[in-house]
Order: sequence, then C-alpha cells, then structure tokens
Amino acid sequence: MKISLAKTAGFCMGVRRAVEMVLDTANRASGPVCTFGPLIHNPQVLGILEEKGVKILSRVPEKGGGTVVIRAHGVSPEVEEGLARAGFKVVDATCPKVIKVQTLVRRHAAKGYIPIIVGDAEHPEVEGLVGHAAGRAIVVRGPEDVDALPETGPFVVVAQTTQDMALFAEVRRLIEKRFPAAKIFNTICDSTEKRQAEVAELARSVDAVVVVGGKSSGNTQRLFQVAGRSGKIALHVETERELSPSMLAGARHVGVTAGASTPTWVTRAVCRTLESWTGKGGGLSDRVFAVMRALVLTNAYIALGAGCLSYASLALLGLEPSMASVIMAVCYVYSIHTFNNYIGRNAYRYNDPDRARFYETHRGTLLAVSSASLAAGLLSGFHLGWASFLILCFMMFMGLSYNVLLLPGRLSMKARYPRIRAIPGSKTVSVALAWGAVTAFLPALSHATPPSLLGILAVSLFAGAVAFFRAAFFDVLDAQVDRIAGKETLATWLGDERTLLLVKKVLAALAACIFFTSVFGWVRPLGFVLLACVGFPALVMWAWERGLIHHGYRLEFWVDSNFVLAGLLAFLFR
Ligand code: SF4
Repeated sequence: MKISLAKTAGFCMGVRRAVEMVLDTANRASGPVCTFGPLIHNPQVLGILEEKGVKILSRVPEKGGGTVVIRAHGVSPEVEEGLARAGFKVVDATCPKVIKVQTLVRRHAAKGYIPIIVGDAEHPEVEGLVGHAAGRAIVVRGPEDVDALPETGPFVVVAQTTQDMALFAEVRRLIEKRFPAAKIFNTICDSTEKRQAEVAELARSVDAVVVVGGKSSGNTQRLFQVAGRSGKIALHVETERELSPSMLAGARHVGVTAGASTPTWVTRAVCRTLESWTGKGGGLSDRVFAVMRALVLTNAYIALGAGCLSYASLALLGLEPSMASVIMAVCYVYSIHTFNNYIGRNAYRYNDPDRARFYETHRGTLLAVSSASLAAGLLSGFHLGWASFLILCFMMFMGLSYNVLLLPGRLSMKARYPRIRAIPGSKTVSVALAWGAVTAFLPALSHATPPSLLGILAVSLFAGAVAFFRAAFFDVLDAQVDRIAGKETLATWLGDERTLLLVKKVLAALAACIFFTSVFGWVRPLGFVLLACVGFPALVMWAWERGLIHHGYRLEFWVDSNFVLAGLLAFLFR
C-alpha cells in the first residue's frame, strides 16, 4: 500500500505556534499553567494538556496565579488586562494573522471608523476583535445582515480569519453597493482554502482518503466532505485505533490529510499504522518494506550504519580498518539506541504505536540482546586499549543516563536539569559527539600507526557531522512529541525552521571541510568520494520538504542509509 500525505495536513501556523507555546510553558514554568478557553478542538491535544496539568480557564477570575496562555484566537484588551490584574503571568499565543486583524480594527476605530466584522459573533476570535473596536464594532453574520447596517459611516470591513470565502465575497459585494466609500480588507486566512484544494487534488490520484482530526472540528469535517465528493473511499478518524484493514480493502494507494487542529503525531500514528499493514501483503514491494521495517525497528540498520561509518572513517585516514573498532561502533550504537528507545518508549505511544507495541512485545529479548551488545562493545573497546575502554565506559554511562533522573526523588523536582535530556540541545549534540568518538576518534587514536592529530580531528568531525544531520533532522520530525515528553532537543529549543537551516549549514560546512582536508592531503582522496554523504542526506531532506516522502520507516531507512553508503563507498574505493 502506497501512502501519500498531504503537504497541508495538520496544524496551521497559528495553532502550531500556540500548542508549542503551551507545551514549552508547561515544561518550563514552575507554577500552575492554564489556557484561556480550550486551546483547540482536538480531544487528543486537550487530553495531553490535561495529563500535563494544564487547566482551562473559562472566565477572568478576581484572583489568580501562575501562567495563563492566550490561545491562537486572541482576546480583547479588557480580558488581557483583567488576567494580568488578577495576578497571572500572561503568555500571548495569539496567531500573528489574527493580531494583524486586531490591529486593523483598533487603528481604524481610533480614527473614527465603524468596524464591520464578517463572522460568527460567538466565535472567540470575533469576540476578541469586537473588544479591539472600542465599542464601535458591528458583527455581520451573512448577507442577510447588510440591510440592517446604519446609514452613517465611515466603515471598515474585515472578516473572521476562518470565514467562508464565498460568503465573504457576497457580503463584500452588498456592502460595496450600499457604501461605496467603505474600506474593505479580506482578512481570511488562506490556510483552510489551500487545505481543501489539496485534498480535492489528492483524492483524484488515490484509491482512498483518510481524513484525520477531531469529530467536532469544523475544518476537518469540511475536508472529509471534499474527499467524499470525489467518489473514492473516504474515512474520517480521530486516531489510528478507529482504522482496520477491512475499511481500506482493495486500496493500493491511500491519501492522508488532517485538519488544522490535528497534531502531527496523531497523523503520523495513522500513517505508521497504515504503513505497518503494508508489509503483510505478498507482493515484492510489501516484502521489501517488511525488511526495511524490521531493520529499522530492531535498530539493526543503524548499528550496521555505525560499523560502516567507522570503516569509512579509518579508510579516510588511510588506516587498515580493524574488526574490533567496527564491532565496538556497532555494539555501542545498538545498545545505546535500544536502551534509550526502551526507556523513552512512552513518547512512542503518541506518534508511533507500532514501535511502542514492538518494544512492549519484545522487551525481554531486546533488553537481553542490548546488554550482551553493551558487554561486547566494552570488550572490543578494551581490545583497542585502556584509553578507548575508559572513554567508552564514560560515553556509555552518559548515553544510558540521558533519560534517567540524575538526582533522587524530591531533589530532582527542584533541579533545573533533572535529566540530561532537559538540557537544551543535549540530545543532538551528545549524539554527534558520541558518534564522532566511537566511529572515528577512538578507533583512529588506538590504531597501531595513529595518523596526525589534525587528520583524526578532521575525520571525527566528518563522522560527528554526519550523525548530527541524522539527530537534528529527526529532532525536527519529532519536535511535537518531544515537547510533550519534555525533551529539550534542538528543534524544541530553536524551532523547526531554524533547526533545518542549521542542518543545511552544517551539511554545507561538512562538504567544505571534506573537500579542503582532501585537497590539503590531511585525509585520503577518498574524501572527494565521500562528498556523496553530504549530497545524499541533502537529497533526502529535499524530498521530505517537498512531501515526496513522509515520516515513516522508509524515511528512517533512507536517512540511515547514508552511513551504509559511506562504508560502501570506502570499501569500493579501497
Ligand atoms: S487558521 Fe490562519 S489565522 Fe487561524 S490560527 Fe491558523 S494560521 Fe492563524
């Protein structure tokens, strides 16, 4: 089964920003945290916020405490001032597009205009806009209300950002006819329109469409209606648990989209579930996928990748790759990945139920194999020498402590960083350092004929940067779930866009580093060939950014293939 995920699926910019702000506040604030009104129309998100202790405030109280987050719809200035007066620390998560409309209304009202707001008077966004009009606003629900408008202006017209385009066009036509001097601004957000256009397009090229989102979410329902009009199988589900293979019997290509209030992790869980059915067919692509899934799920592929990278690093220095250093890299990476995935498996229940099930079902075997692998890694490190052994012990200790509390009980509650994972960017940076050390630095340093320190550092940088790409790229993909789990990754710290930009810069710097160190002879000419290990991840990221491949086992497989590619190129070169 082929799965195509709509590019516009999931949170719109304003909702995503508001959810991130609430989760960041909940993870970092010391006192109680609440939102003013329900954050979004999605039961999964509201359930998670409740689990994290985020309460919903339905009105401005006389006295309050802690932090209150204003949702994407915004509020009136009176409400915001009332919250601050009551004693709350106010975090404003109003969508920037809504702020623009609020500013338009406020400025024009101050100049004597009468703001006409085309929208639903009970909608929180409209209530907020009315509050910015200094008591002068008139709310128009539809064309039927235009006749009742007063004769005297001047008028300024704006729309609720989620207003129906056709309805606004009709109201606009009538107002222009009655009040030719009225200033009219189309403030409808294009996010909804683009989403509907894309699902109509998607439905044409697939056998079935799965629309993911809250049953009470208006924009999700409209997507479902658009998909249904195509005549293809159309399903509206809130979570992957509502799906069964029989519902999509005969469908070889399934399109997935989601409403503006559907979190990425819910959509991803649906895609993962659909993907997990793929391997159960009898076709060649099904069997290939089953192998990919098994390699990724068991961490066998990433461990193989570590061995390949170690081989390539030594070959880059012109050294004979030793079996002990390859085994050390394979065992270290396998055991650390498996232990940490097992310890952090709770986060998978949000976005990757297939992996969560795998870890639950096979936990005995996985823990036994990881322990054996840990011992084998240490033994190989010992074989390389005392220095390698001790550094490896330290790295393993740090790697395994990543998810565990560093201080006992109450002390950990007071600590700013109770776990290593709570230190901003810690995961990404420590992964890069560990990979650089275990696949390049230690094997080169302990080699019978160690090369120049400059060469060792250049190759360690190469290995660390390739691993950095993987860690930072997955940080971006997992940012929403990491926020829930309270992990301080680069993406939760810097934001998705800045992290992606950083990843691109690191890849560019890596390309320059390999090129010049090869030109100056610090590493072997193999460096020119290994430039492919910069081009390949850039290509994978490009395909992901254009929606040609979505987050799933296939994407993980291709990202990890970069390490295997390095080993393969080094082998062929030698
Ligand atoms: S639909 Fe548009 S205006 Fe409304 S929250 Fe999303 S991005 Fe902002």
